[in-house]
Amino acid sequence: MKDMLRKIPKVDSILRNEMWRELRHYPEDLAKTHLREVLGEVRDTIKAGKTDPFPDADAIIAETARRTARTLSPALRRVINGTGVVIHTNLGRAPLAPSAIDRLLAVASGYSNLEYNLEKGERGDRHTHSVSLLTRLTGAESAVVVNNNAAAVLLVLNTLAEGKEVIIGRGELVEIGGSFRIPEVMKKSGAVLREVGTTNRTFTDDYERAINENTGLIMKAHTSNYRIKGFVHEATSDELSALATRYKIPFYFDAGSGLFFALGGGIDDSSEPVLIDEAGKGIDVISFSGDKLLGGPQAGIILGKKETIGSIKKNPLTRALRPDKFTLAAFEATLLLYLDPKAARQDIPILRMLSLDEETLKKKARRIARALRRGDADAEVQAIPLYSEVGGGSFPDVYIPSFGVALRPSRISVDALDRNLRSLDVPVIGRIEKERFLIDMRTIQDGDEHDLASGLRIALTDGR
Ligand SMILES: *Cc1c(COP(=O)(O)O)cnc(C)c1O
Repeated sequence: MKDMLRKIPKVDSILRNEMWRELRHYPEDLAKTHLREVLGEVRDTIKAGKTDPFPDADAIIAETARRTARTLSPALRRVINGTGVVIHTNLGRAPLAPSAIDRLLAVASGYSNLEYNLEKGERGDRHTHSVSLLTRLTGAESAVVVNNNAAAVLLVLNTLAEGKEVIIGRGELVEIGGSFRIPEVMKKSGAVLREVGTTNRTFTDDYERAINENTGLIMKAHTSNYRIKGFVHEATSDELSALATRYKIPFYFDAGSGLFFALGGGIDDSSEPVLIDEAGKGIDVISFSGDKLLGGPQAGIILGKKETIGSIKKNPLTRALRPDKFTLAAFEATLLLYLDPKAARQDIPILRMLSLDEETLKKKARRIARALRRGDADAEVQAIPLYSEVGGGSFPDVYIPSFGVALRPSRISVDALDRNLRSLDVPVIGRIEKERFLIDMRTIQDGDEHDLASGLRIALTDGR
């Protein structure tokens, strides 16, 4: 063993090696750190009695280069979404519209009037930028934008009901993925949960009976990611708004997704609240996400009466939950598109993907399938009909007819294909169904097709 240990190339000799020079475009100290790490592992393997095959200097340098390159490559990367889930929370929810990306870049690359009032030449307020657009688009009196809708819920509850009771229907104690649960957020906000009704049926009377001198707020939460069907009843936002007005208690609606207009195109959106309708009901506060159906950056939007928004803005928590300038820039640009619903449907990727018709998707699937067959890909390739989902905790039971590519690999298992696709430079995420790997065309972006076809070819031949 001593012999073997002595045979391990020394750091100095490796640094003089011809091959090491090829690592010169990497930061030197970083490459050396990785080299020492690799040499240490070789030593450990020998000590553990495993010596075969013994790595030579070239192999050690190659491994060092591989590790250095990996350290230098970003962990957060672009992926190709072949799942057909349009608002995929794990894959970053909404891709931005081109104009939103332009605005984001412009604001990111230089200085901006983030908190500077250009008219008065003095300190300004970052919360003013999108307000007039939001009030114009929804009819609400005022608005404030925060980090995300979870922050919005926390902020509204803390501002309006700290130390007081919040009445909410039992069937609306929602959990959105990633540990957001209404009862837990409520506890953190300092408000006291007062649930009324039953899981499947809750009436306005239930809320009314729970009102007492310590009631701070009546709340409704959109059951974004599930549906209760059958013997059901829920109090509508109109009824609850009227009740709250009668008792002079504020009413808050967590609307979830941020839909500005009905989607149409055969998608049943009757159960998704449309903001302009809700804001028109005189609801005191409404909140929703910026990166679900709205199709913008991650944000939480709070709409409401001037006075209510004013007290929310005065809450010190708002400072901790405020959005950054990139978000504000991209958000405002996304809202600008909504001034023309036709432009919004065309330019906002989420809305465009949802409106793609089967025929277009079929053509795209056939084009990719043909390219793969022409390239002699190691798989049986077919264009097949399948179903996409909206995702992101919206439209839980809506499946939209779509088209995709189904692959049955001939040299490797379908699980190996899945693994290979995930380890590509631009990883491809799809799903396995009945021993086939499926890629839904609805969520394949226009610029993705080339990377997808070449990635598939590599992944299919990789023998792992
Ligand atoms: C998605 C959602 C949230 C959380 O919003 P984020 O923007 O993900 O923080 C809160 N409430 C409802 C009803 C939702 O659908």
